[in-house]
Amino acid sequence: MSAPQLSVVVPVYNEEEGLAALFARLYPALDALGLPYEVIFINDGSRDRSAAMLKDQYAARPDVTRVILFNANFGQHLAILAGFARVRGERIVTLDADLQNPPEEIGKLLAAMDAGADYVGGVRRSREDAWWRRTASRLMNRLRERITRIRMTDQGCMLRAYSRDIVDAVAAAREVSVYIPALAYTFAHRPVEVDVEHEERSAGESKYSLYRLIRLNFDLVTGFSLVPLQLFSVLGMLVAFGSIVLYAVVMTERTIAGGFLEGIKTLWDRDILAFFLIGWIMFGVGLLGEYVGRIYQQVRTRPSYVIRAVLERDGEGDSGRDGERGGLPRGERHPEPVETRELR
Ligand code: UDP
Ligand code: MG
Repeated sequence: MSAPQLSVVVPVYNEEEGLAALFARLYPALDALGLPYEVIFINDGSRDRSAAMLKDQYAARPDVTRVILFNANFGQHLAILAGFARVRGERIVTLDADLQNPPEEIGKLLAAMDAGADYVGGVRRSREDAWWRRTASRLMNRLRERITRIRMTDQGCMLRAYSRDIVDAVAAAREVSVYIPALAYTFAHRPVEVDVEHEERSAGESKYSLYRLIRLNFDLVTGFSLVPLQLFSVLGMLVAFGSIVLYAVVMTERTIAGGFLEGIKTLWDRDILAFFLIGWIMFGVGLLGEYVGRIYQQVRTRPSYVIRAVLERDGEGDSGRDGERGGLPRGERHPEPVETRELR
C-alpha cells in the first residue's frame, strides 16, 4: 500500500441500515479523486450490526480500510479523536456515516487546501434537518460567535478537511470533552469555508436527542469561553446594585408619602421577581458545575475512550497502542471458557 495522502475519518453509531449505501458511494467517490487514500471507521459502541458490517468491509477492502472498535459509546467527537490519533494521510477529512455529507463533495475541500488553506469548513447550503434543529443551531452559532474567538458559519457541519499538523495538535490535546471543529480551528493558520450540499439521512434516525445536543453545546461553550461565568458575576453585581437602589426608592417613598401599606403590597408582587432571580441563580450554579465537572474529569486523567480492537494491515501504523490501556485488548487470552453473566 502506498502511503495515503488522504485519510477519511467516519464515526459510526448504530448505522446498520445506511452503511451499505455509504460504502457504495464513498469508495467510488474517493477512487475518482485519483490519489492514495485510507478510510478509518470508528465504531462508537454500536448495539446493532454496524461492527460486523465494518469488519466485512475491512475484509473486502483491507488495502484502504481501517476500523477502530470502541468498547462502548463515547460520542461522535471522541470517536473522531480516536481516528485522528491514528491517521496516516497528510490531509484528513471528516464525514458523517449517514450520507448527509455527500462524499462527492470531498474534492471541493481538497481544492481549497490546494489553494493554501489548512482548515476547510463545510457550510451546508440547504440543511435537510428538522426545523427545530435548524433554529436551535442558528441560535447556537450566533451565541458561539459572540462569546468565543472561533469564527465559522456552520459549526454543526462535520464535512471538513484539516491538514495533518492541525489533526496532530488536536490529537495531542487529550481533552476529555471536545468539540473537534472548534478545537481544530484554534490551531489553524489559514481557515476557510466552502459551501457543500447536505442531504437527508439515507436511513435510520439522528443519534442526537435534545439532551445530547444540549450536552454537546455545553462542551462547545465551556471548552472555548469563560464569558458565561463572567456574565454571572456581572449579573450578580447588577442585581446587588439594583436592589440597593430599589431599597432607597421604597424607603424614600414610604417616608415622604406615607405609603407604607402600598410598599408591603408591592413586596408581595416581588415574589415573582424572586422566583425569576432564583431561577437565574440555579442556572448560574449549574453553569459553575459544568466547568468544575470538566475540570474534575480532566484532572482524573482517565482515558476518555477505550479501544477494544483495531482492524488494520500492519504498516506504518501503531496498532493496538490505546487498546492496551483497556486491559485485554484482543480478547481470547483465557484458554479456559468461563461462565459469565450479562450486566446490561
Ligand atoms: N455518532 C457517533 N456517536 C454518537 C452519535 C453519533 O459516532 O454517539 C455518529 C453517527 O453515526 C453519524 C455522525 O456521528 O455518523 C452524526 O450523527 P447523526 O447523523 O445522528 O447527527 P445529526 O446529523 O442528526 O446531527
Ligand atoms: Mg446526520
